Amino acid sequence: MTAEREDRAMDETREGRDFIRERIDTDLAGDKYGGRVATRFPPEPNGYLHIGHAKSICLNFGVAAEYGGICHLRFDDTNPAKESQEYIDSILEDVRWLGFDWGEHLYYASDYFEKLYAFAEVLIQQGKAYVDELTADEIRAYRGTLTEPGRESPFRDRPPEESLDLFRRMRAGEFEDGSRVLRARIDMASPNLNMRDPTLYRIRRVSHHRTGDDWCIYPMYDFTHCLSDSIERITHSLCTLEFENNRPLYDWVIQHARADWQPQQIEFARLNLTYTVMSKRKLQKLVQEGRVSGWDDPRMPTVSGLRRRGYTPEAIRAFCERIGIAKKESTVDMELLEHGIRDDLNTRVARRLAVLRPLKVVIENMPEGRVEEIAAPDFPDDPARMGQRAIPFAREIYIERDDFMEEPTRKFFRLAPGREVRLRWAYLLKCEAVVKDDAGEIRELRCSYDPQTLGGQAPDGRKVRGTIHWVSAAHAVDAEVRIYDRLFAVPRPGDDFIADLHPDSLQVLQAKLEPDLAKAEPGSRYQFERQGYFCADSRDSEPGRPVFNRTVPLRDSWAKIAAREKKSS
Ligand code: ATP
Ligand code: MG
Repeated sequence: MTAEREDRAMDETREGRDFIRERIDTDLAGDKYGGRVATRFPPEPNGYLHIGHAKSICLNFGVAAEYGGICHLRFDDTNPAKESQEYIDSILEDVRWLGFDWGEHLYYASDYFEKLYAFAEVLIQQGKAYVDELTADEIRAYRGTLTEPGRESPFRDRPPEESLDLFRRMRAGEFEDGSRVLRARIDMASPNLNMRDPTLYRIRRVSHHRTGDDWCIYPMYDFTHCLSDSIERITHSLCTLEFENNRPLYDWVIQHARADWQPQQIEFARLNLTYTVMSKRKLQKLVQEGRVSGWDDPRMPTVSGLRRRGYTPEAIRAFCERIGIAKKESTVDMELLEHGIRDDLNTRVARRLAVLRPLKVVIENMPEGRVEEIAAPDFPDDPARMGQRAIPFAREIYIERDDFMEEPTRKFFRLAPGREVRLRWAYLLKCEAVVKDDAGEIRELRCSYDPQTLGGQAPDGRKVRGTIHWVSAAHAVDAEVRIYDRLFAVPRPGDDFIADLHPDSLQVLQAKLEPDLAKAEPGSRYQFERQGYFCADSRDSEPGRPVFNRTVPLRDSWAKIAAREKKSS
């Protein structure tokens, strides 16, 4: 046994190994692939990647890394009508951003078109495929149903030489789009509908984003996918459960096309998340109908949307690890994802003060023109960690509208007429008067501060319960702050998912930020104290004119739910 194998054997005894890793262990122990592990992530470039894809990426690249193997990135680009370079570029960027490296193993199914064509000829020569002249509608009608067998096409038994000739002429462009297809010749009575003479090639005069007009026939996904895995000598072809019924077809194609490599397909449950949809088709509809600003809208469950929202690759990877691999479909609570990013950012990002819904306060006993510099630590919960900045304190400040109540309720401990509150890092502040406009709306507060209380402690020991954040009015940076809610109003959007969209998933606020945030670089992240985690928008923010997206509020409802569950169990 090599040292590496020994490690692996040790791993087998480790708890919590999923069925995929167990299966690979078994294959390696049986020397099935000569000890090699090669996986692949095979996206079709017909949309942006979503968090479900991230699960598959983490699994495939993760497994390869754990076994000292390799993971290919392969574009399954067989449907030029729906694919584009924009999608290819975004997928490359997203996989890289998630922290994975395909090295030299970047492939395109379209690079195999010539090889795939040769495999198709092998099938024809052996009487395992034929050119059919039924129309698409007829093929559908002949297919049968789950309870009724299909009917054989009248062209099914034509001699292989005739099919071969027709197939070559299909390639040469002699026939109209849709007039002929190449079909596998398997079993029209098979209980598995995938085995009822599936279409392998169709005629389509569409320019391909990589092969241009070289081809007017294109291979179907099922035919391409299994042979691409075989060509690349993939050992373990990990895919989602809906492909379980395709496996017999894949095995059939590989055997009868005489491909010399048979990957082991293993299916796992796809990731579903509450309060969102997770199919490219649906996400595309949201983009096309302008329901969101684009594939990278921060409300989208796409990798690019999550990135723009402020998620870190570490948090997404940890989430994928935590949800694990299962054989049964389930839906993961969105709160688990939100909990994870909160956890990750908590230790990583500096704190800042930001007033999202400003209310002006004039501190009457503070001389006009005087500015005091107040030191504030970047990581107040972690005293060992250095880093602080100076916040200007002056006669006019802004506080959060919600932090004042003219007639305070019983449990309200913040500012109210005649009451004192602590200004974070600064002084105790007392509300002396409320100034209203003609309509009775509060315009500003008149307050006083106690100069003896820097740091928030009164020398006489009087009790002040509330602490609120604030910014100096003259020094504050104006910023657009985008508060996102969930994209959907219900945990499980229905078939008519557009109707389930959250009507108020984006709120745009004109906020006042502490001056240090003027220099925030696009993509930089902070905790706005008491508010949540925020990220300077990568598209619209620029130093001097920041635009912030709220990644997630501070309130951790997941922790509460977990506590509740623990209690009731
Ligand atoms: P969608 O259903 O969202 O349109 P897809 O399966 O058509 O996605 P592909 O580009 O074919 O998208 O997917 C590439 C890989 O990602 C496949 O191996 C697929 O099994 C996997 N994958 C797609 N969606 C999920 C998901 N929700 N959870 C886990 N893996 C997924
Ligand atoms: Mg697919």
